[in-house]
Amino acid sequence: MKRVLCVLGTRPEAIKLAPLVLELRAHPESFETHLCSTGQHADLLEPVWRCFGIRPDTKLECMRPGQSLESLTARILDSLPAIFESTRPELVIVQGDTTTTLCAAQLAFYRRVPVVHIEAGLRTHNPYMPFPEEMNRTLVSRLASLHCAPTQNAAQNLLREGIPAERVHVTGNTSIDALQWVLGALDNGTLQPEATFPPSERKRVVATMHRRESFGDRLESVCQALVRLLAEHELELIVPLHPNPEAGARVASLLPEHPHLYLTAPLDYASFVALMRSADLLLTDSGGIQEEAPYLGRPVVVVRECTERPEGVAAGVASVVGFEPESILAACRAALFPAADAAQSPVRHGIYGDGSACRQIRHLIASFQGK
Ligand code: UDP
Repeated sequence: MKRVLCVLGTRPEAIKLAPLVLELRAHPESFETHLCSTGQHADLLEPVWRCFGIRPDTKLECMRPGQSLESLTARILDSLPAIFESTRPELVIVQGDTTTTLCAAQLAFYRRVPVVHIEAGLRTHNPYMPFPEEMNRTLVSRLASLHCAPTQNAAQNLLREGIPAERVHVTGNTSIDALQWVLGALDNGTLQPEATFPPSERKRVVATMHRRESFGDRLESVCQALVRLLAEHELELIVPLHPNPEAGARVASLLPEHPHLYLTAPLDYASFVALMRSADLLLTDSGGIQEEAPYLGRPVVVVRECTERPEGVAAGVASVVGFEPESILAACRAALFPAADAAQSPVRHGIYGDGSACRQIRHLIASFQGK
């Protein structure tokens, strides 16, 4: 029996760790699993718990409106020791590249508890893109003992940084396990989306923007492109707005009213998956959506300068277009109205995983010995 502490704080971490928590809890003879949320994205977490039917065992309230990275870091580092004291973990699991991820890994290191890093090895090789995530995940790779890489490419990044090969395992991304879980539950009727969007005659574009690097003029450029796209073609545009006011409220202020533009609050994961499945095009700066889109066979236009997920680009289902309205428009048109002789956008189920990541990670954790 291993005492395992999972620490998470944001929506993408919750979505990607939920199926792993379910997997570990399905084996109580092998694992005592404590789930701790730092509440870094307090408002966005509740719908994830409702969706997967799990609850954190401990909720820390580390989020403050308008918080700085340093004050958030200080609050998390200050709050977590009590959880380590009460749960006495033998292993700590963290996911991805958030401030919570880095703080929990750092604290585990101080306590000499081995860290399992889920979604290890993603890199753009530019420390400021995305900021602070690229640095967070690079530092977590120094701190972790077991590295669960989603793809061969991510594993190669870790090996190039000198991580011993026996500590690096390609498991696929747990986002695909989460996606399969929700698709299954939607299809067999055990899960109802909290919001629905009636089918439309028009082609449907779904857009989300939330990264720090996109704020300011860049967000303005993206919105200009979206306004033109909507004016030029018979489309409907649905935009779930991020609660960070520099993202969501700013996007709302940059998009004028239009009969086929729908701005919504952030959607619960099941509703968002159903919406992605009904979309003709996804336009985003999100990481997770770049993984989900190929699985759903939906083209994705990535409004960023670069991506740590080059697999979708190589497979021809994602294009990274930067922030110039003309490039964004050209990529959207090409994806929405492919030339008659162009190959159909292929469904690329296997790029980011096959849905067995959590099972593989459970086996790895069960047999992991040492520091
Ligand atoms: N997502 C969601 N509701 C929304 C928008 C996104 O549930 O309204 C999901 C999406 O399917 C993906 C995750 O949130 O699994 C992505 O989160 P985000 O874009 O905030 O973070 P990133 O993936 O860039 O780290």
